[in-house]
Amino acid sequence: MKKQFAVIGLGRFGGSICKSLASEGMDVLAIDSDEDKVNEFAPVVTQAVIADSTDEKALRGLGIRNFDHVIVAIGDNILASILTTLILEEMNVKHITVKAQNDYHEKVLARLGADEIVHPERDIGVRIAHNVVSKNVLDY
Ligand code: ATP
Repeated sequence: MKKQFAVIGLGRFGGSICKSLASEGMDVLAIDSDEDKVNEFAPVVTQAVIADSTDEKALRGLGIRNFDHVIVAIGDNILASILTTLILEEMNVKHITVKAQNDYHEKVLARLGADEIVHPERDIGVRIAHNVVSKNVLDY
């Protein structure tokens, strides 16, 4: 059976995850509290809904606990990101990936038990540095 993904937060990061998963033919539920974002992604994903992910009832209503992998891509609102992760953990969601905004945020997410914590700007910086070094070694 196809894996079921949910992406919460449709900024640049969450939005690009949605587009990539959809182009790989995956089932994706996209969630954002901003109606314009939801309208933008509705044609791309399987289902797009307006919801506040800090509202436990709303997440329950969407059956979020049955999804295989939930990605929390809320950026600036660290409190909302933490609360959302806590709710998902309490619901025993199988796999939770969360975008961290800074080291303190990352620490709290780790304590909450997030399965995977990503720090896009830092992670891509590390990858680019590795690529530059290995390219230099090859050129040499
Ligand atoms: P990016 O760099 O990926 O664009 P960002 O740091 O700019 O991320 P934000 O704009 O802070 O990210 O948040 C990403 C999205 O998360 C926004 O579209 C915002 O509406 C949504 N969002 C924020 N809080 C909630 C919430 N409680 N429930 C659902 N969506 C939320």
